[in-house]
Amino acid sequence: MVCSSIIESIGGTPVVHLRRLFGDTGAEVFAKLELFNPAGSVKDRPARYIIEKGLAEGTIGANAHIVESSSGNLAIALAMVCRLKGLRFTAVVDPKISQTNLTILRCYGAGIELVTEKDSQGGYLETRIARVRQMLRDLPDAVWINQYGNPRNWESHYHGEGEEILRQLDRPVDMLVLGVSTSGTVHGIARRLREAWPALKVVGVDAAGSVLFGHPPASRELPGIGASRVPELLCREEIDQVIHVDDHAAALGCRRLLAQESIFAGGSSGAVVAAIGRLLQELPRSARPPRILTLFPDRGERYLDTVYDDAWLERVAAIHRARTASAAAQSSIPAHGVTA
Ligand code: PMP
Repeated sequence: MVCSSIIESIGGTPVVHLRRLFGDTGAEVFAKLELFNPAGSVKDRPARYIIEKGLAEGTIGANAHIVESSSGNLAIALAMVCRLKGLRFTAVVDPKISQTNLTILRCYGAGIELVTEKDSQGGYLETRIARVRQMLRDLPDAVWINQYGNPRNWESHYHGEGEEILRQLDRPVDMLVLGVSTSGTVHGIARRLREAWPALKVVGVDAAGSVLFGHPPASRELPGIGASRVPELLCREEIDQVIHVDDHAAALGCRRLLAQESIFAGGSSGAVVAAIGRLLQELPRSARPPRILTLFPDRGERYLDTVYDDAWLERVAAIHRARTASAAAQSSIPAHGVTA
């Protein structure tokens, strides 16, 4: 097939059976490789879907100035789509953006709006949203994508990966294990698959330190999964189980994935590998080994300074050891007792 433009090549991603990583458990684990998308991630799908739907129905005009608060994969995907459609695009970012992503955004010709003031929570989320709202007031043609609240986000995954998986797999899986941030990917795919496979169990993988599922906020470094606010799109009751994975375990998962399957993927892929490892360990020995489907959202290149850097890994390993020691010390103190 000859594509009429680069964005026609979004989707149609392969599914790989991870025989080497999980083969000895008896479980069948499949991964859909969204890292094949042209701007490098699963976010190419909502970027294309939201812009094309908006242009078709007129909510995005030919002179629109697209605005989004994102320092990561969605910003890069929007930069690609907007450049091709001849639309202006500005990413509202904060100082935590990686140098690589900043350079990629500039290469695509995106505008960069950098907020530097911290918000009441000590992060930048509120300041970034305030800057978006200011731009909507100041720029008459500005249109906000709003990935955390825009239903077209999950719809893009329903019609995208959801449809493709039903064509790619010959029979149902028992579990869908996916990383969660805006929740667009997990809800879109799960809603489509459950229409065909009603018994599907959905497991969400969140970052330790994220507030998505009611845990207190804590520092975390890897982008991709987790959030510092609860998205409007998140429907907690549609997710059967949540597994939290910290930066250290996610990085080790990435390195195992690379060593055993030769798949060079980003931090959230390592997080789902770690989560599936835990799920399989916890299964009763008598249980039938499950069929599991997961998704690898992006490639390893954007993580050379983190996941694939030995000094970074050693630093997060030290944080991990300190947290484990402090949790162990807490649990040895009797809840109402007095320690000597
Ligand atoms: N992994 C990566 C690398 C991502 O960029 C994202 C999107 N932030 C996700 C997982 C989670 O996807 P969603 O926002 O649809 O929940």
